[in-house]
Amino acid sequence: MTDDDNLRRYVGILIEKGAVDVKIIRPETITTAPWVILKCQFGCSNYGRSLCCPPRTPSYEMTRKILDSYDKAILFHTHDRKNTTQIAEEVSRQIFFDGYYKTQAFGSGPCTLCKKCNLDDGCLNPAIARPSMEACGIDVFQTVRDNGFELNTLKSRNEETDNFGLILVY
Ligand code: SF4
Repeated sequence: MTDDDNLRRYVGILIEKGAVDVKIIRPETITTAPWVILKCQFGCSNYGRSLCCPPRTPSYEMTRKILDSYDKAILFHTHDRKNTTQIAEEVSRQIFFDGYYKTQAFGSGPCTLCKKCNLDDGCLNPAIARPSMEACGIDVFQTVRDNGFELNTLKSRNEETDNFGLILVY
């Protein structure tokens, strides 16, 4: 199978797992920005309370360097925030088993795997816990819009949420 065949296969797997739209993208179309951390630091009760959240996650500058060391990524949209990270991690694991050893998954929102994060002694689920894109300084709005998705801010807290996951492939 060629790389393109495999990428198309991963799109199909993501759809089977619940993604509503999936795009194969180039990592240079992913925007990182210094302001993103403010949304975590002032506005999210999880700031500093998770190993998958700032300030323990990579800075936007480091994330930029990481993104620039990849050629292909997959961006996907779900309506299920809780499972977005899980889907990204599961498909990334499959991608790794296929030989793409650099693959890395990013989810959406704070890690919810444990009731209380094990801050002092290390992650209790290192094989499956993954940070969100925003936790690593990625401007999710700009990135998904630049890649052809529609994303608007919520008008109320009761609206169905749009969530996005990212898998760096190779
Ligand atoms: S899996 Fe548990 S210990 Fe690991 S980052 Fe998530 S909440 Fe923290």
